[in-house]
This record gives sequence, structure tokens and C-alpha cells, in this order.
Amino acid sequence: MIPAAGKSTDVSRERGGEEEGFAPAERDWRRSALAASGDAQVSLWASAETAREERFGKRIFVRGVIEVANFCRQNCSYCGMRRENGALRRFRLAREIIRRVIGESLPPSVTDLNFQAGEDPVALKELVLPVIEEIAKEKRLGISVCLGTVDHRLYDELRQAGARGYIIKLETGDPEQYRLLQCPGTLERRLEAIRYLVRTGWCVSSGLIHGLPNQTLDQLVGTLDLLRSLSLSGCSVSPFIPGEGTPLSSEKTADLEQTLNVVAVLRLSSPRWVIPAVSALNLCDSSGYVRALRAGANLATINLTPSEWRGDYQLYRRNRCIMTEERILQAIEQAGCQPSLESWIAASSSFPPSASLVPASRSSP
Ligand code: SAM
Repeated sequence: MIPAAGKSTDVSRERGGEEEGFAPAERDWRRSALAASGDAQVSLWASAETAREERFGKRIFVRGVIEVANFCRQNCSYCGMRRENGALRRFRLAREIIRRVIGESLPPSVTDLNFQAGEDPVALKELVLPVIEEIAKEKRLGISVCLGTVDHRLYDELRQAGARGYIIKLETGDPEQYRLLQCPGTLERRLEAIRYLVRTGWCVSSGLIHGLPNQTLDQLVGTLDLLRSLSLSGCSVSPFIPGEGTPLSSEKTADLEQTLNVVAVLRLSSPRWVIPAVSALNLCDSSGYVRALRAGANLATINLTPSEWRGDYQLYRRNRCIMTEERILQAIEQAGCQPSLESWIAASSSFPPSASLVPASRSSP
């Protein structure tokens, strides 16, 4: 049976800074929770929903994402934007177009803006930096970026411009799997970047892909342990979707129920994390998004990329599931929640940056 969690009495222990190791009990709990099925699975999801409500109430953060460029110097074998995908039409949005999206078509529920791209330092310097400099002065929005592993100097410049959140996923924390899948650079460098960002005051959100080909339970538990050891503000899980134009195009799509177990384990392991429901969940099943919100997720993302370029931002396939404001508000309502009026970055900044919580019964020595 999966131990119930989510009551404040269960999550009484706080720690600061990174953690070196976990008690076997905590690791064992993660292992059995990830594999939960039947009644145990239903109670796992319900416990995670309760834990989210105790920490955040029924409010779901709403951010808008603009995918500004699909050039990428990396070659991740799961991603359709990998540099060797010669079939993809590459783009960088014009600054004027980004300005127009922000100035004229920002949905009222959006409190945060996220700028995302392949790993493309040109887009970072020539598009994202100047636009952030402008909007940070004019608008009261939380600003985050997801731009890959770049030089420290560029992180500093983005922060000076006004960005406060950095989304940088590990994808997997298993060094061998990381290397085989050609994830960005090296795992060591990715971790070094996360630690630098945390040290220099960013709200950092990381994450993993669940259901990667040949992924073992040990690799998954190890990845979750590693993520928990970093001083993150948020964490996400994406189900693996076989990407068109990638070496993994004929592999199997991740199992939705198991991915929801990962969402719940993230919430129960770290109740303070901001955990996005990712649009790819709806590619597994049309109920996936709402079910993630009911399994502990608390952030929804509206896609603001102009329709002319959306299809070319091809993480998996051209016919993506595009989350409009209407769909997001409907999903939030179906999950029995309301949109938050506060930015996730403002909410995360009000917590001590390095604090994390562990259910008392599963705490490390
Ligand atoms: N360049 C940035 C970086 O390195 O962080 C942006 C990353 S990528 C463009 C956006 C995210 O899509 C990745 O971090 C990965 O988690 C996810 N992704 C890409 N291909 C995927 C796939 N086939 N299945 C699930 N998630 C995928």
C-alpha cells in the first residue's frame, strides 16, 4: 500500500541546501509509488491533489509561452528539433512579431511569460534579451526562459534584463542514458548550469521525460532522487512521445497512468514545487491534462506562438496539442480549480529558495 501523504503533519521536515542522499525508506516509497496501480494509484493521486491544495489552495498558475526559434545546436535523439533533422523548416521570429504577441494578444489570465527556443544563442542574444529588457520595464509579468545550457555570462545578462525563472530539464539523471540519448551537452554540465542558476538567485524549474525507450525503474528513481537534491522551485514530467524525424520515431508512447504517478510523486516529494501540467499529456489521452492537475500539478501553459510557426516548433510531431486560453480555463475548471492571480515566480520567491520538504516518515538520516 502507498503511504498516505499530503497532510501538513506528514510534511513537517524542512531542510535547506542540497541533499547528499536519501534514506532507503524514502527511495523505497518512491519506487512503490511509481509502480502503483488500482486502488493504491487512485489514493496516490488523491494524496498528491490534497498536498497541492494544502500548499497552494485551488489556484493554478497560468503562463504564456512564446516559442521564439527552432534552431538548435544540440542533437537530442528524442527531439524533432535536433540539429540533424534536415526536414524541419527552421525559423527565428522577428522581434516585431514577439512584441506584437505580447502587446496585442496576451490573454487576461496570463501572469507569466516564458520564452522558449532550441539551444540557439543567436536567438537568445538578438531576440530574447532585447524583448525582455523592454517588457520588464513595461509589464507586471513574471518572466521565465527555457533556452538551454549556455555561458554563465548569458544567464547573468538575462537576469539583468529582468528574467527571473529558468526552465532547464535534466530529461534523465542517469549518466549513461543521458549520453546514449544525446541529451544536451553532458549531464555534468547541465547540473553545473542548474547549480549556477540557483546560486545566482534564479527560480529554477527542471524536469524529466518519462517512458523513454528502455528506461528502467532504477533510472527513474535515481532521476527523481537527483532532482530532489537540487534546490529547485519547480519540476515537470513530460511523457515520452516518439518524435517525427528522430531516431526514436518508432518507439512506444509513454503510458499516461504511469506518467501521472510521476506527477504525484513529484508533488508528494516536494510539496512546494510548481509542477506544470504539460500539453503532451493530451497526446497520450484527451483527459491527460486535467488528470495531471488532479494528480498534483499546479501550472498551466497557454501557447502564444503565432499559428504560422507553431507546427515548425516540432518537439514531437507537427500536429501538436495547442493549449489556447479557452482550453486551459476549461481544464482548470474541470479540475475544480481557478486560475491564480499571482505569478509562479512571485509565489516561489516567497519561499526560502533552497528549502524542500520530505514526508517525516520517509526522511533521510
Ligand atoms: N533548448 C531548451 C533546453 O535545452 O532546455 C529547450 C528544450 S526543448 C526545445 C523542450 C523540451 O521538450 C525538452 O526539455 C524535453 O523535455 C521536451 N521534449 C522534446 N522532445 C520530446 C519527446 N519526444 N517526448 C517528450 N518530451 C520531449
